[in-house]
Amino acid sequence: MMLIFIIIFAIVIYVIYFNDDKESQDEQELLRCYNCGHIIKESYNYCPNCKEQLKKQCESCGKMIGVNWRYCPYCNHPNLDEGLEK
Ligand SMILES: [Zn+2]
Ligand SMILES: [Zn+2]
Repeated sequence: MMLIFIIIFAIVIYVIYFNDDKESQDEQELLRCYNCGHIIKESYNYCPNCKEQLKKQCESCGKMIGVNWRYCPYCNHPNLDEGLEK
């Protein structure tokens, strides 16, 4: 009888731990528009709230990269926007 209680207790502990682990995995890092803070998806090229451009084409390899990224992650080409060219 005691053994059954221990097994049930172990299952309860496992379920609690598993649920916690699942919740932490479900927590997606929310991307936000750097201009207005509106929640955006990674596939968005423009913010649906303020129309701010979120992505631009890399001058070197042509892939879409974030406008505020310092370097292109595909070809390591420096991503110089108007603000950094001063
Ligand atoms: Zn925005
Ligand atoms: Zn590139």
